[in-house]
Amino acid sequence: AEEQLLQSEKLSIVGELAAGIAHEIRNPLTTIKGFVQIYKSNGGIEYTDLLLSELERIETITSELLSLGKPQVIQMNHTNLKDLIENTLELLLPQANMNNIQFKLSYEGSSFFITCEQNQIKQVFINILKNAMEAMHEGGEIHLNLRKGAEGKCIISVRDEGCGIPEEILKRLGEPFYTLKEKGTGLGLMICHKIIKQHHGTITYHSKVNEGTLVEIVLPLVS
Ligand code: ADP
Ligand code: MG
Repeated sequence: AEEQLLQSEKLSIVGELAAGIAHEIRNPLTTIKGFVQIYKSNGGIEYTDLLLSELERIETITSELLSLGKPQVIQMNHTNLKDLIENTLELLLPQANMNNIQFKLSYEGSSFFITCEQNQIKQVFINILKNAMEAMHEGGEIHLNLRKGAEGKCIISVRDEGCGIPEEILKRLGEPFYTLKEKGTGLGLMICHKIIKQHHGTITYHSKVNEGTLVEIVLPLVS
């Protein structure tokens, strides 16, 4: 347990450092990108497209890192989890449709209220659902289920039919910059873990290669 604590402390220091660095990188990046865009519209120089796509990659990484920093105002609100999840799914519908993916939502019970920073919890679902979609190259179904657990907790499960995660990788999920995707950042799950921890919750994975992955998030309900 002590080792785990050390690991999570290390991660939060890395996170804060990274957010600081990202902030410093973003301004010059915006300037460079602007100039490359001017070159491009003036007929372009060789490799303009390559330059732009690399710049866009840095941009994605820096904005993900920035979202690790503490938000300006932390507003913990009484939140209907059902509404929050439905709103999140709506945001992701275009991407799901494009990839032949269907969301199947089910509830066991009716009232699921939590106290949370809504944007952050939304970000967690977006990151988890994006991973699920990115794992399903042939399309398929993503099942979300909301139910009550022990001790006034609720359990949100997200089950995909994707490529699955080998055991040696499961252990490393949430490590910053750990990614197996060509265009991945390896920051999504690190952000999720940090946010869920701040909300006194847990997040666990069960997975079978070539069958799919089940992500379970447990959060305290408002009593
Ligand atoms: P990224 O998505 O940018 O790679 P993440 O932190 O979101 O970074 O995820 C880290 C890695 O965990 C991914 O590269 C992927 O290999 C693996 N992973 C996460 N969720 C899933 C999933 N649902 N199915 C298969 N692999 C997953
Ligand atoms: Mg991701």
